[in-house]
Amino acid sequence: MPRYDVRSPHADEFVNHEEILDTLAFAEAHKDDVELARAVLRKARANLAPARDHGAALSHREASVLLACDDAQVNAEIRQLARDVKQAYYGNRVVLFAPLYLSNYCVNGCLYCPYHAKNHDIPRRKLTQDDIRAEVLALQDAGHKRLAVEAGEDPRHNPLDYILESIQTIYGTRHRNGAIRRVNVNIAATSEDAYRQLKAAEIGTYVLFQETYRRTCYERLHPTGPKSDYAWHTEAHDRAMAAGIDDVGLGVLFGLEGYAYEFVGLLMHAEHLEAVFGVGPHTISVPRVQPASDIDPNAFEGGVPDEVFEKIIALIRIAVPYTGMIISTRESESMRARALQLGISQISGGSRTSVGGYAEAERPHDTEQFDVSDQRTLDEVIGWLMDEGHIPSFCTACYRAGRTGDRFMEFCKSGRILDYCHPNALLTLAEYLSDYASPEVARKGWATIDAELARMPDEHRRESAAGFLARIRNGERDFRF
Ligand code: SF4
Repeated sequence: MPRYDVRSPHADEFVNHEEILDTLAFAEAHKDDVELARAVLRKARANLAPARDHGAALSHREASVLLACDDAQVNAEIRQLARDVKQAYYGNRVVLFAPLYLSNYCVNGCLYCPYHAKNHDIPRRKLTQDDIRAEVLALQDAGHKRLAVEAGEDPRHNPLDYILESIQTIYGTRHRNGAIRRVNVNIAATSEDAYRQLKAAEIGTYVLFQETYRRTCYERLHPTGPKSDYAWHTEAHDRAMAAGIDDVGLGVLFGLEGYAYEFVGLLMHAEHLEAVFGVGPHTISVPRVQPASDIDPNAFEGGVPDEVFEKIIALIRIAVPYTGMIISTRESESMRARALQLGISQISGGSRTSVGGYAEAERPHDTEQFDVSDQRTLDEVIGWLMDEGHIPSFCTACYRAGRTGDRFMEFCKSGRILDYCHPNALLTLAEYLSDYASPEVARKGWATIDAELARMPDEHRRESAAGFLARIRNGERDFRF
């Protein structure tokens, strides 16, 4: 039987089934132990003021005790602490991105995804390089600077060369003041050599969702195709990092399996990356199963109610304080609003989850990967974020300044990343307001910038930011700290 070893290269050892069951049993046995929960929260709170403890956070076992605890007061403290952690590490900035679906050809048989090979109800489509240029122009004209490229796994239709060429096309497409400055990539688990080529193509984060950490469930949901290999999939982030990709993203598709099991598996995976590479996950995404062509979420047993989902978000924020946390347009506006208060630091905006969705005036539905619940335009999302007290940010500075991997974590875990995130959020928001915003959002945005500038603590930073902002108003672009 595989034994738990956080540093092991083997999936069954670093996300170990027995250790997860033990953890869940421990949490269940202590779920009424309010004193223990309070002690765990005190430990987590020590990461604040300032956030200088190099990311020392909660173990999967400690976090699980909090997840199991039903005490109303403890749960209120969890929510408050999650807010405080987000503020301490990232402030009130929220980074925006858009997914770009290149192709929905896929050879896998994933039972929760409409792109699965046996779904004959959806038309299959793959963007040509001209199509991609059209999509990127539409995205740039909306104001986006950061994309997440998505594609099914299909060696014949979507080989690595196609992905690499597409990335080159995206970076090479420029329109007026527009530019895509960071391309994150969400493609199937692949070889170390392929990751090396993606690194050479200058990708930002390599994102791969685990879907479910329970091997038996994983194998049932992935009956066919290369993705059915649990170990190959789960060890992919290790190969990516070994190949030199500094920033990797984790995620669970909540709703497939019991949430408590997934929660422990996710934290163990983060602990593993931290232990082996000294760099935990750059991002953690929290998608939930949604309706789509040939997919009924009720067919899965692990449905996560909103209240529990919010608690999971808050606890990930507390347990992995340094990580960027992402919520997508799968979730409704009101859920996204609540999640943002609990520690989410990146959201997609104005998303279309179909292949070729952006260049078309009407939102196409026939090739969507999932139903988009939040259907607002990017401009509406920007205005709304400011109404909610956040600073919308299109910042890509760290990646472009070489603050990736352990260099990024050094800034982030020591609490210094805020000195970059905050002014960079203002600069990139100013670009958006100058080039793309509606008059109402522009008015709101400039007022936000003035107010945020005034409360910037470092005088030198404030003066430099004010100078850059004046130059942006005069038509110059692309300043960063
Ligand atoms: S300064 Fe770095 S961490 Fe902060 S928003 Fe920009 S790229 Fe992200």
